[in-house]
Amino acid sequence: MNVHPSPIVRHFDPFSIESNVRSYCRRMASTFRRALNAEVWDDEGRRYIDFLSACGALNYGHNHPALKAELLKYICGDGIATSMDLHTSAKRAFLAKFFGTVLLPRRLDYVIQFPGPTGTNAVEAALKLARKVTKRRDVVAFTNAFHGMSLGALAATGSRFARGGAGVPLSHVHRLPFACAGNDGVKVLHDYRDAVCDPSSGIEAPAAFIVETVQGEGGLTVAPYEWLRALESVARDLGALVIVDDVQAGCGRTGPFFSFERANIFPDIVCLAKSISGFGLPMAVVLIKPQFDRWRPAEHNGTFRGNNHAFVTATAALGLWENKKFQSDITTREQELWNWVDGIAADYPRFLEARGIGMMQGLRFADPHIAVEVADRAVRNGLLIELCGPHDEVLKLLPPLTIEQEVLEEGLYRLQDAIRACLSPARMGYRRYRLRRSEGSSRKRET
Ligand code: PMP
Repeated sequence: MNVHPSPIVRHFDPFSIESNVRSYCRRMASTFRRALNAEVWDDEGRRYIDFLSACGALNYGHNHPALKAELLKYICGDGIATSMDLHTSAKRAFLAKFFGTVLLPRRLDYVIQFPGPTGTNAVEAALKLARKVTKRRDVVAFTNAFHGMSLGALAATGSRFARGGAGVPLSHVHRLPFACAGNDGVKVLHDYRDAVCDPSSGIEAPAAFIVETVQGEGGLTVAPYEWLRALESVARDLGALVIVDDVQAGCGRTGPFFSFERANIFPDIVCLAKSISGFGLPMAVVLIKPQFDRWRPAEHNGTFRGNNHAFVTATAALGLWENKKFQSDITTREQELWNWVDGIAADYPRFLEARGIGMMQGLRFADPHIAVEVADRAVRNGLLIELCGPHDEVLKLLPPLTIEQEVLEEGLYRLQDAIRACLSPARMGYRRYRLRRSEGSSRKRET
């Protein structure tokens, strides 16, 4: 018989009854209490710098004052909290702001679906809709992709470990290599198109291509824009839809609001979640070209599609983008982060490679064990940071877009200290590293 310890037993640790599935709290084991922008304090009053941003759900930092003020005003006025898909004034304000601030200036013609509040919910909706529109079953997804943990999204996810948890076959996904360098990547797409068109290839035409323009979990590989454009044109040739999963890379993380803007493509469906609410409140949207909005009423339902608190903070967050200084400050932070990552990678060329774009930067370690050591040490130094990539070999730097310059620099010093200790001259025969702020970048930057 299993007997639960009584909560009144001395030394009972409430966290001990949390499932074994927990993960981030294993490396970052403190109990966190309060946070402001990129600074977080634990129960003991210890201060941390946040390079995690709740995996891209806190692009505007913790408790952004403008968003918090709107939310408090709304709650104090007894605003509706949750409303399924009923009309509310908070939803109307969000839709109007999204149209005026995001869609109209970019001349993007999309209708908006509110699925359940997670990124996975948005991806599931997108995949279902693409299959329904095209009456085809297979979708093309890419190596190292991450699209979520429920069965449809997991089928499109690459990780063997994550897929292993499914318990049933994950099917109807055709896997292609993600954005290999140079013409090879484009050639892979063209070969695939030719195979689909070959009547005896045995390869069915796909309903859609689902793609992250920068692989957030897969190791911060950035798809070159010519590859993204080739993908769009192959999809058009095959009558398949293009789904951009902008759950992690969207909402300004790579620079512009959408990550695909730099490639000048026009996806048929776009998935946004994580930072769309701006405040860390659960919310997701699926943007659909009007001609593909073939849902019948209530055909893809869900209780939590009307988180009005999230609508309120999302509206306030979009308001921030109307301020030119807000945008230019992000560009400055981006340059600092980018230069630092390039600088330290250049100092340890045999051990480190710079990855990423915008405020979504990474360092790939040739040896994954050292990556783990550095991450653990950085946490001990008071920096919240995680690893990604197929072997957990890429350190992911995802500070809030709004991080103050001094706090960013302090976080980078803490990380530099961890890297230096783990790649120390004694261990690696390497020279000391000085923090560089404005040296040129060696990575090719797309313009
Ligand atoms: N797509 C991408 C690109 C993601 O990074 C994630 C989450 N890391 C998801 C989908 C799933 O989002 P969620 O965890 O909110 O379900």
